[in-house]
Amino acid sequence: MQTMIPHLIDSHFHLRSMQRKGMEIEPILAAMQEFSMEGIEIGLDCGDLAERTAMLEPYPFIQLSAGIGPWGAQDSLEEQLAVLEDQLSKHDVAAIGEIGLDNYHKYGTVENQEYLLQRQIKLANTMGKPVIFHNREADEQFISLLGRTTFAKRGIFHCYQGSRELARLAIEQGFYLSFAGPLTYKANKSMQDLFASLPIEHILLETDSPYLSPVPVRGKPNTPLFMHHIYAYAAELRGISLETLVLQVKANFHAFLGR
Ligand SMILES: [Zn+2]
Repeated sequence: MQTMIPHLIDSHFHLRSMQRKGMEIEPILAAMQEFSMEGIEIGLDCGDLAERTAMLEPYPFIQLSAGIGPWGAQDSLEEQLAVLEDQLSKHDVAAIGEIGLDNYHKYGTVENQEYLLQRQIKLANTMGKPVIFHNREADEQFISLLGRTTFAKRGIFHCYQGSRELARLAIEQGFYLSFAGPLTYKANKSMQDLFASLPIEHILLETDSPYLSPVPVRGKPNTPLFMHHIYAYAAELRGISLETLVLQVKANFHAFLGR
């Protein structure tokens, strides 16, 4: 393994997806603990919270989120929302997510995606929880949504790939923009410029494991243990020391959690 740095945050990863790819998660969790990492294990569907809560009980430095992503727009909406609400009444989460809009994969219909998203924003507001947004080619819808919605807590736009305008509005609403492996890809010059220009107290970093591995491990299955590659690249883009970035992202993460 490459030189690991302590106190890194991975604001977004999917352990169950890693397991489905045949990855062993126990050694990864043990290494995260050893290097005082923290982060959020992100839910993918309405019914997985109980299982994930049990799996992560020995690892209290990892938070959980639960939500129904836009992929849920293909199935029965009310049924899934009922299951999610039931799970949330029994288990603690740090956030509702990932939830959002995806015009790339076009799951279900635009209306169903919007409905699922709105219902879960309401739920998050009722519970006093922040949201974690998934946005794939839906900048205009999110710009409109941010303009007409109030949020109980400051949420996260995960794996930010949106426009400058959306970034500005999101930050006005107190949101954090979390950047993943694509920040390290040569082709993403405008994303890198945006990242370098954002107010640093609104930045988070993530792997989105097992997807989107950063340079120089692109093509391999991603794990939170690759987080240091993203930090190194991000510090260089910002022209600050790695130590400064580590402290800042940790402070941002704790401000997000409010705990
Ligand atoms: Zn994700």
